[in-house]
Parts: sequence; structure tokens; C-alpha cells
Amino acid sequence: MRHHKHPSVQMAPPRRVAVIGGGIAGNAAALALAHKNIPCTLFDMGRGVGGRVASRQLEQQGQPLSFDHGAQQITAIGADFKAQLAEWQAAGVVAEWRGRHGEIAGGAFKLWPEQPGGSSSCGTGFCGSMTGLPLYVGVPSNNAIAQHMAAQLQAHPSAQVSSGVAVQTLARVGGGCGCGSGGSKWQLRGSRKGRAAAAEPEPAEQQEELGAFDAVVLADAMPLLPGSAGHIAGIEAASTSLAQLARSVQAVAPEPCFALMVAFRQPLPGVPFDSASVAAEGSSSGSSGSSSGSSSGSSSAFQWVACNSSKPGRPQPAAGAPQCWVALTTAQHARQILERRPLSTADGRFNPQTEQYRADVAAELLADFWALMQPFVQVGPDAVVVLLRIRFLCCCRNGIAAVVAGTARHGALGELPEPLYIHAQRWGRAFAPQPMGTEMLFLPAQRLVLCGDVCTGSSVEAAWRSGRAAGNAVADMLLADASA
Ligand SMILES: Cc1cc2nc3c(=O)[nH]c(=O)nc-3n(C[C@H](O)[C@H](O)[C@H](O)COP(=O)(O)OP(=O)(O)OC[C@H]3O[C@@H](n4cnc5c(N)ncnc54)[C@H](O)[C@@H]3O)c2cc1C
Repeated sequence: MRHHKHPSVQMAPPRRVAVIGGGIAGNAAALALAHKNIPCTLFDMGRGVGGRVASRQLEQQGQPLSFDHGAQQITAIGADFKAQLAEWQAAGVVAEWRGRHGEIAGGAFKLWPEQPGGSSSCGTGFCGSMTGLPLYVGVPSNNAIAQHMAAQLQAHPSAQVSSGVAVQTLARVGGGCGCGSGGSKWQLRGSRKGRAAAAEPEPAEQQEELGAFDAVVLADAMPLLPGSAGHIAGIEAASTSLAQLARSVQAVAPEPCFALMVAFRQPLPGVPFDSASVAAEGSSSGSSGSSSGSSSGSSSAFQWVACNSSKPGRPQPAAGAPQCWVALTTAQHARQILERRPLSTADGRFNPQTEQYRADVAAELLADFWALMQPFVQVGPDAVVVLLRIRFLCCCRNGIAAVVAGTARHGALGELPEPLYIHAQRWGRAFAPQPMGTEMLFLPAQRLVLCGDVCTGSSVEAAWRSGRAAGNAVADMLLADASA
């Protein structure tokens, strides 16, 4: 059967949409557009897509290491996202993470009871949404999910993925209200230096032309947040609605988090869990969101710890691979670190996390990691490498100050098997504790929509749903224009 398109649809020039941000929200938005045959370009300043669904895979002394240092696991509450997870499972990029999951409270670990149907409500942080729910992860890494989405996107003839590109200027050109084929467009400029461009932004006239677009999906709050790596200078000036949007986003005040990555040659013996949320002092399981990233009373530096190697599809210690751990700090502890190692410079510019910055933070957090794990690790005589060797290692790599600071807080470090590898990642804006409470923010007159976890809350599910809604809204608007 032949399909006849509406004549006005055939005659209208193709509408192009820019999606700024290649996290889960941006990919979901771009896929929604592509499914409706709306040409779109997805820009991300990272080397690859994924944003906070980030993974680090490397070799250390010939040994494979794998860490998910952003989103740890995925849960599904809504039927639509459960269906999406099932699709990813069928494609082999997601698997259930069966393991010993629970909570550390008062130095003791307690397993969560299984609730296969999932009755928990979504908390503001990721731990609040996962109590007892089945946990899923990307395979072979969490970032594989975003890569899969981007590959699906690139399979569409009208979609493009441009990673390593920081969008730095967004300007309205062409006048008019932006409605109809003769209206204005969004002109994008930026840099192919990616994240590195944030530290030394160039004047708009020296930035690269990235194209003119009929609509823009802002798939992250960063473009509206001064001092962040993705801030688009002067974005507020593009329209009064954008100035209001910027103020609303700034009011959400996302919370910071540091991820510590540690690998050991041999598995830590005796640890009774594969993942654990760490209860703030005076609270334990059932208090949803107790570890939501604002655990002000927590005695631990961390809100979550996981053996990454226990996830399916990772290099297995049973087959001789090192054991990899990830621990996430509380927002309060992250803020304390940021007081000494700030996110932005005195003149408000983004302060990049250099290798030295990461190494210093990792050394500092290693002492905290051991303080958390010590009650659970049964260190046998053959697994012991004495404290002085760890201190020596940390001092050589990362400077004496961090180790002294860690020791001062916790007293003697005790005995810890020597790590094969330590690393840290700063997430300046990790979680949105008080999201805007709307699936997306659509400014149809501006032909602009904001989506991402800043709208509905920090989880992969929320980001996916927000992005998909934004993509559909823009697609429907452009299709309606074209057939008008
Ligand atoms: C440490 C940590 C642990 C977490 N754990 C979990 C968990 O276990 N389970 C869970 O469900 N959720 C978890 N989350 C939350 C979850 O990762 C996020 O809610 C979700 O990934 C957000 O997706 P997003 O697409 O909205 O934003 P992001 O993933 O942040 O994507 C935004 C993208 O926009 C890009 N960008 C921004 N500005 C520009 C610009 N000007 N030009 C080009 N690109 C730009 C950025 O590079 C980034 O890639 C965790 C988050 C963190 C930080």
C-alpha cells in the first residue's frame, strides 16, 4: 500500500532540533524525535555519551578493571520504563544484578527483603528509590546503555550524535516569534575541545558554528548554571523566559558527590554484601531517602558502597581479575571536600578536576573507605600489607597532606590490603534533592524545552521519562506547524 503524505508536510523545509546533552534524558529525547522522523543533532561535551551514567574501564598492570562511577544501578517503577528495561535486556545491554544488597547502619549490615513487585516510592536520591527493588545494570558497564541508545539514534538517517562538542552560545537569529517556516532559529556555537573548553571559554565570535535549529532541547540543567562545565554564558539574555528558567534551575541547587574507585588484587575477605547504602546516624532501612545525598548526620563519609565486580558482565575475581569497589560520598562530605577544592574559581569560572585533584581526593577518601569497611573485612595474615605501605603509596602518589588529614579524622588506619588502583571522580551536581516537580519545562513560543533529572528527580528512570516527554513535545509541535 502506498502512503501519501500531507502536501504541506512535503513542502515544508525540514525542521532540525538540537539536543544539548547526551545523558539518558538527551538520548531519550533525540530517539523520540528520530522516531517521528524529525532531524536532530545530539551534542555532548563528553568524549562519549552517557553523562552521569558513567563507567571507567582500564587496565592496570595488565589486569582489567571496571567501575561504574556515576549511576550505580537502575530500578524501574513505571510500567513504561519496565518495558524499556525489558527491551534493553533483550538487546543484551542490561542484566539483573542479583546479589546481597542492603544497608549498613551502626556498623552492622542488614539485607533488604526482596520486593519483586517494587513497592517503594522514588526518593530524592538514588538510594531512596531502590529499597528491595530488583536492581539492573548495564552490560558490560552501565555506560553501555547510553552507548546503545546513541547507536540506535545513529541508525536513523536524520539523526546525528556529536560528542566532544561543548555548546557555548545559544542565540536567537532571524527575528519573528519563531513560529512557522519563516520564523527565527536558534544559532548554536561551541567548541570541539569538549569539557576542556569550560576552563577557558572563547569569545562567541571565535567559537565554531554548530548550526541553526528550529528548536532546542536542553537535556541538562548545566547550561543554565553559572560556574558549571556546561554553562552557556549569557543564556539568560536570549529571552526573559530563559532568565526565569535559569533562576528556577538555580533554586534546585543540585548536590555534589565524589565517587571513590578502588581495586584490590584479591577480593576483600569476609565482606557480607555486594552493595550497601549507608544509613545516616540515627536512621536505618525503611526511612526512604535516608541516604539520599543529604545525610547530614551521617558518621560515615559515604552514602553507598558497592563491589562493582559483583555486577554481571564485569571481569570476575573468580577468574583472576582484581576486585573493584565504588563508594559514593554523602553530599555533606562532598561539600566539605569542595570547601578545600572548589568547583569554580574566585571569578566564577569552572575549576576542572585535574589528575592531581582526583588523586588527592582519592587518597583522602581511601582512609574513609577503610573506616567504613573495617568492621566487615576479615583480614587474614597472608592478605595483610601493613599500614605503612599504604601510607607510603598514598604519600608518593598524592601528597602527604591528604593522608595526614584522613588519619587525623579516623585515627590509625588499621590494616588494609594494598590497593592496586585508586581514583576519584567529582560530580559537582550529582543529585537534584528538590526537583522542579514537572516532567519537563516546555516554552513553545521559544521552541525550547528543558528536561533531565532536574525536572523530576535523580534517577535513570526519571531522566529517561523526562527526555522522552520533551522529545515528543517538540516533535508534535513541529509536526503540527508543518501541517498547519
Ligand atoms: C554518583 C552518582 C550515582 C548515581 N546513582 C544512581 C543510581 O544508582 N540509580 C539511578 O537511577 N540514578 C543514579 N544517579 C542519578 C542518575 O545518574 C541521573 O539522574 C541521570 O543519569 C541524569 O541523566 P540526565 O540525562 O538528566 O543528565 P546527565 O547524565 O548529567 O547528562 C547531561 C549531559 O549534558 C552534557 N552537557 C551539559 N551541558 C552541555 C553543553 N553546554 N554542551 C554539551 N553538552 C553538555 C553533559 O556532558 C552530560 O553528559 C546517580 C548519579 C550520580 C552522580
